[in-house]
Amino acid sequence: MAVQQNRVTRSRRNMRRAHDALVAANPNECPNCGELKRPHHVCPSCGHYNDREVVAQSGDVDLEDDAA
Ligand SMILES: [Zn+2]
Repeated sequence: MAVQQNRVTRSRRNMRRAHDALVAANPNECPNCGELKRPHHVCPSCGHYNDREVVAQSGDVDLEDDAA
């Protein structure tokens, strides 16, 4: 096991952790449904991306049509 040669001071430890803060998500408004969505991701509420439906929503599927 690797063993550190020198004690890391509070100062040095805290300087290392200065860059560890989490950044808040930056959601965009979906142009189709207006719901907040992550940038460059398919909208989770309507399944649209770039004004096109790319993920069929469960409510939209017509079960009668699929059976035929
Ligand atoms: Zn949407």
